[in-house]
Formats: sequence, C-alpha cells, structure tokens
Amino acid sequence: MSSKLIDLASLTANKRAFQKQYQQYQSQALNLDMTRGKPCPEQLDLANPLLNILSDTDYLDASGVDCRNYGGLSGISEAKTLFSQYLEVSVDEVFIGGNTSLGLMHDIIARAMSHGCTESSTPWASLDKVKFLCPAPGYDRHFAICEHFNIEMITVNLLENGDPDIETIEALVANDHNIKGLWFVPKYGNPSGLSVSDAVVDRLASMECAAADFKIMWDNAYAVHHLTSEQVTIKNLLQSCKESANPNRVFTIASTSKVSFAGAGVAAIGCSADNISWLEQHCSVQTIGSDKLNQLRHVKFFKNLDGIKMHMTKHAAILGPKFDKVQTVLNDKLAGLNIATWSNPKGGYFVNLDVQNGCAKKVVAMAREAGVIMTAAGATFPYQNDPKDCNIRIAPSLPALDDIELAMNILCVCIALVTIDKLSSS
Ligand code: PLP
Repeated sequence: MSSKLIDLASLTANKRAFQKQYQQYQSQALNLDMTRGKPCPEQLDLANPLLNILSDTDYLDASGVDCRNYGGLSGISEAKTLFSQYLEVSVDEVFIGGNTSLGLMHDIIARAMSHGCTESSTPWASLDKVKFLCPAPGYDRHFAICEHFNIEMITVNLLENGDPDIETIEALVANDHNIKGLWFVPKYGNPSGLSVSDAVVDRLASMECAAADFKIMWDNAYAVHHLTSEQVTIKNLLQSCKESANPNRVFTIASTSKVSFAGAGVAAIGCSADNISWLEQHCSVQTIGSDKLNQLRHVKFFKNLDGIKMHMTKHAAILGPKFDKVQTVLNDKLAGLNIATWSNPKGGYFVNLDVQNGCAKKVVAMAREAGVIMTAAGATFPYQNDPKDCNIRIAPSLPALDDIELAMNILCVCIALVTIDKLSSS
C-alpha cells in the first residue's frame, strides 16, 4: 500500500488524542486475551449433554463391541460412518484418532520421517534435506511441526482469493524432489478466513511432483464452521487425487475440537485405502486404540452430519456477533484511512488484519502494554518471519462482546499511533 494514499495530516492532527486514549487504556491494567482461537464457555456449554450421555449400561457400539475395552484401532463403526460424512470420504477411508487433529498431523510427519510413506520406505529423515511448502499467512502450529523435525519451510504466497500461489507451487514441486509436502487449511483458513477454489484443488491433485511421496496435509479444521448463512463448499481433494491417479497424495484431517469440546473431541483422517493401511501398520505399534467411549458419546449426541450442522448453527449464533463487533470497530476507526486492510470471514475463527509494512510487531507490542494480548506478530509465517511485518491475527471467539469492543478499540489506537510514527519518520 502506498503511503501517499494516506491522509497523514488528518491522522497526525489527532496524535495527541490517540496518545491520551492510549494512556487511559494503559492505566486500566486490562488483561484481554485475543491470542488463540479458543471456543468460549457458551459454545462449550452447548455440548454439555455429551458429559453424561452414556449410562452405566450404555457402552456397546452398534456392532456389539465393548467400548470400555481394548481394541478397534481405527475407530468404532458408527464413528467412522459419521466422519465419512464429515470428511466426504467412504467409510473404509476413515481413520479415527484420539482427541487432536494436530497430534494426528504431527504423527503422520513423524512416521514419514522415521519410516517413509506408502510409495517408499526411505525415511525422510535419512535424506539430505526435506522441504515443505507453506502458504502464508498460515497456521503457526503447522510451521512449528516443520521446525521440530528440521524440515525446511518454503513460504508460498496465499493469494487474496484464498488460493495458494499454485503457479509457484507447481514450478517448485516439479523440479525439487526434496519438497515432500504442503500444508494447507482449505476452508475458512487460519488466519485468512478464505477458502480454496475448485480449480486449485484440481491442480494440486494433478500437478507433477518430483517427489513420488509428495503429501498434502489438508487441514480441514473449519469444515462446518460457518459464520453466516452463505455456507462455502470446497471441492473434495481426495476425489480429485483419485481421478488424477494420485490417490495417496492427500491426508484430510479434521476434529470436533471446535464442534464439541476443544481438546476433548474426536479427531479423524480421511485418506486412500493404502494410506489407511500405512496408518494402521504404524499406529498398531503406538497404541491399542483411541478412546472409543468418547467416539460413542459423540455419535450418540450428534447422530449424523445433519446433527453436527444443526449444532454449528448454534455456534454461529454465538460467534457471529463477536465477528460483527470486530468489523464494526475496524470500520468505525480505520475505514477510509488507508492504513490497514482486513478480512470479513464467512467462517472459521479469525480475522486477518494487515497494517502498514514494518508496523505489525510494534502494534502488537503496544497493544500488549495496554493489556491486549494478540498472537505474536510474525507467528502466521514460517520461522515467525513475516517479511513485510504487516500481518496481525485477530481471534475474537473467546472474549466477551464488551471485551472484544474494548480490545479492538485499543488495537485501533495502537495502529494509528504506530502508523503516524512510521509515516512521520519516513
Ligand atoms: N488446525 C487448525 C487450522 C487450527 O486452527 C487448529 C486450532 O486452532 C487446529 C488444527 C487444532 O486442532 P485440534 O484441537 O484438533 O488439534
């Protein structure tokens, strides 16, 4: 964004007023946490019947398996049915994991590093280098997994329409056999709130990759997390991969962390039958199976995909006003100044805010000093390095409405002050 667009005079004319406001906020010793996309207590309350939905005679699954006992490595049959609907795959393409999709993703990478994949049993860790493509801004914990395993991250631009820069991706994967995978949140992305186009789904499925064992980690964390009645749908990547004769290319991952209970839900993977065998082979060494009683609770509570969708309309009713409040304050305080742009997501958990280049870290630091804790600036990029230092992630789900209003007002004052300083020194 060109600084010439900015009405610097009108902004700086208010510098004193902004400073005064900021000092007032500072003196209030506030503690407003907008760091992570956590559900709020009202959302969690919606699933409280799950806590005692099983009676003391109610522990058999539909096929008579005793869910109190060992066994059932890949999940109980009715949970697989539920997740086959959720992940849009067939029942034999579902692997039910424990309570966390992040854990499932971590373990897929860990197994590839130690034992290789379906196409090759050469452990990735035995190679000179392993690289992953990371569309950014993206989910910080994907990047943390790469850092943990010493996987080199290549930043790829996330475009304004929600697609990763597919031209660059195609060119990179075609020529570099060390590029073993790609992270992506395809729907209502973290933090963009944007969704992938059908055309890019097909290109990801069919592109030529130098690495035969190239994997797409399709983290569909926000599959049913609509905020408006305009419900986005995305194309099924596993289906496209099959049609392109690359059935083993994708792992689709999801969980009910933001449907039922965060960290106490059910996580699952949708992938080809060969990848399911690969998962079962490795998981059978790690565990005798995950918590079948929790799977049973979830199936009894939600019943089917329609049950989940209905439940999520209640989440949207709680979250919608919070996201609206973020928009109201941003529009009220920043619209027309040309000092920031932001998303207005139709789903997911985040609002993506871009301030002037070189300002994000200062804004986040200033907000913290006034008691508003945001996700660290840079966290949405590989190696916490936002090359333009402009991206800020807003997570409005947890705080109460009044706190969001206050936090957003403080954030806007910080943006104004940091921008004034930057422009008057340039
Ligand atoms: N994937 C994305 C994109 C997320 O935003 C989050 C949580 O914020 C997760 C995964 C974590 O999910 P889980 O609780 O299932 O590990």
